[in-house]
Amino acid sequence: MNVPLVLTQFLDRAVALYGDKTGVICEERELTYLQLNERVNQLSHGLKALGVQKGDRVAYLAPNTLEMLEGFYGVFQLGAIMVPLNIRLKPDDYLFILNHSESKVLFVDQELYHLIVPIKDKLETVEKIIVHYKDSDTNEIAYDEWLAQFSNTPFERPEIDENDVCSLLYTSGTTGNPKGVMLTHRNNYLHALVTMHHLRVSDRDNYLHVLPMFHVNGWGSPFYYTANGATHICLRKAAPELIFDCIKKYRVNVMHMAPTVLNSLLQYYEQHVPAIDHPVRVVIAGSAPPPAFVTRVEKELGWEFIQVYGMTESSPLSTVSTIHSHLQHLPLHEQYRMKAKTGHAMIGCEVKVVNERGEEVPHDGQTIGEVVVRSNGVMKGYWKNPEATMETIRNGWLHTGDMATVDAYGNIDIVDRKKDIIISGGENISSIEVEGVLYDHPAVLEAAVIAAPHEKWGETPHAFVVVRPGHNVTEQELIAFSREKLAHFKAITGVTFVKELPKTASGKIQKVHLRNEYWQTHGKTGRYV
Ligand code: ATP
Ligand code: MG
Repeated sequence: MNVPLVLTQFLDRAVALYGDKTGVICEERELTYLQLNERVNQLSHGLKALGVQKGDRVAYLAPNTLEMLEGFYGVFQLGAIMVPLNIRLKPDDYLFILNHSESKVLFVDQELYHLIVPIKDKLETVEKIIVHYKDSDTNEIAYDEWLAQFSNTPFERPEIDENDVCSLLYTSGTTGNPKGVMLTHRNNYLHALVTMHHLRVSDRDNYLHVLPMFHVNGWGSPFYYTANGATHICLRKAAPELIFDCIKKYRVNVMHMAPTVLNSLLQYYEQHVPAIDHPVRVVIAGSAPPPAFVTRVEKELGWEFIQVYGMTESSPLSTVSTIHSHLQHLPLHEQYRMKAKTGHAMIGCEVKVVNERGEEVPHDGQTIGEVVVRSNGVMKGYWKNPEATMETIRNGWLHTGDMATVDAYGNIDIVDRKKDIIISGGENISSIEVEGVLYDHPAVLEAAVIAAPHEKWGETPHAFVVVRPGHNVTEQELIAFSREKLAHFKAITGVTFVKELPKTASGKIQKVHLRNEYWQTHGKTGRYV
């Protein structure tokens, strides 16, 4: 008989094996796994009292807090569906998602409550709003008082099938409107098993939640760190000084984050050199193109760097960049270059790079094709959008919209999103490659490259640059620098200096906004008119 793979088993295991161990630390509160489980039970009883049933949607608008973490298990125990909301959206986006997902209850952090106020009257299905950390005078229910009314005794769970949807995650919206991705218990469970193996998760881990849990559940971290009895340390804001404080105070040894956040840590480290007297075992980055700073992370910070690649639609991770023993004879710089690549398929994931006819591209490190994935992590589909599902999952393969090459070692190197590639005189240019070169310039703090219209070539690369404080650089200097380092057709032809780049909540640069802004004044490139 098959035992259904249901996420509640992860917390059950932590309670059975690690009941007295610290399970969560959140803003000076420390809870054992037993205490966490009691709150989870209270939450499930409370949701039931509100009339939430199996299959109903429960939305969360919260940063990384204890309340957010316990929400997953409290909702799962009912067989209900967790809808975590990105905390950086605008009120109208929440209106769209809450109505689109037909959420019944909304939990919202006090600091974010103001984002809901303007849309409250337009919510079509939300029956109750419950506020975490409520301290001001609103008419909503205060979470702590509400939770305290319910019993912490075990919750009688309905029959849950592993193919039942457990989370509805809206994509980052980097390229357009967010889409609701339906992930099942089985998707998340098997993704968690595979990921905990590749990241070597154990009960000795003190995991700092830097990556937001709402973002494809922080790559599943509420699941596999719990299953292994690791300690969760919650962090509201991914600011470098706060991250270093937590690392020191709680002996954090593992973190996941976007490269932009890691970049800010490196910068902070240069200026303050915070002393850390215990080993940080690994930092895992992904979710956006990797700037060339792996060497600095490993040499200066002394942290192992692992690059991962994935997307919401695949639970999310599909590849990992650990250097395998058969590659350890390679010179160190070559190993660093490989780590900055996206790496190999994870166990149980089939990852191919294919041309337009669906044939695998040669493993020559040059030929570009689209990444397609078949794995247990691939979503059930887009919520209420069968057309988009059919377009994305074809013949059982998830079409990622990401372009890549494969080298002779089988390393999959994400070149760019299909939409971000620049086509100049018929040649494909990876905006990521050009950005990587700009990041090597000492005055460049951040860079994003987009396609600018060009009379002769159709498109040429144009850079948006944030200058490192205390440095100066001109447009001509950066153009010359890129011509020195890159084939001339790939070199940038212009620079717009900006104070900051538009980013998603998880730190991804939203090139779509830069493109629109640039095209408004300079006209669109031929491909987009
Ligand atoms: P939307 O689909 O709404 O436009 P999004 O694609 O950014 O948003 P996510 O699912 O959060 O939403 O992100 C997945 C995407 O992030 C991938 O398709 C890929 O383009 C990018 N990505 C993830 N990991 C990496 C990586 N290691 N290197 C390069 N790009 C990556
Ligand atoms: Mg996407």
